[in-house]
Amino acid sequence: MAEEATLVLIKPDAIQRGLMGAVVSRLEELRLEVIGAKAVQVSRELAEAHYDHLREKPFFQEIVEYLQGTLHETRQVVAFVLWGEDAIGRVRELTGATNPEQAHPTSIRGALGRMRTTGLMENVVHASSDRREAEREISLWFKPHELLRAVTRSASRLDERDR
Ligand code: ADP
Repeated sequence: MAEEATLVLIKPDAIQRGLMGAVVSRLEELRLEVIGAKAVQVSRELAEAHYDHLREKPFFQEIVEYLQGTLHETRQVVAFVLWGEDAIGRVRELTGATNPEQAHPTSIRGALGRMRTTGLMENVVHASSDRREAEREISLWFKPHELLRAVTRSASRLDERDR
């Protein structure tokens, strides 16, 4: 298993509820390297691009508004790029299942997430699901100069055999 990068977003529900520190502290347990971090005011364009694969879902508009902060009186998402051995899988495991009610209680979503009455899963964090998605998402949220390492396919051809 090679070293790899993953995108983590602390979503607006976590910001509104003052859970940023709790989430960062759980992520720190993994001892991954932070190679990018910033606060982002999320535009509709960015939120729609982030959730492009869910465009056909009935909850698409709601998750776009969720990511934009419209539902939580904040305009802020905090974005991290974490780097290390098996970073994507390890962060996903710590993050837990999409539905906070089904997520393991020791996971971030299981411990801190909740369901909105509309059925929206307010699950505190986003974490990339696989390497292709991680690269797509990182290039969407970060410019190369904002990262301490190059993480794209073309910039790390030596890792090709690990994909
Ligand atoms: P994940 O965030 O675990 O990778 P998805 O990419 O499938 O999951 O979904 C993106 C986000 O959309 C989820 O984090 C959650 O907030 C919301 N979501 C997913 N499925 C549903 C659903 N069936 N109903 C409401 N919201 C959902």
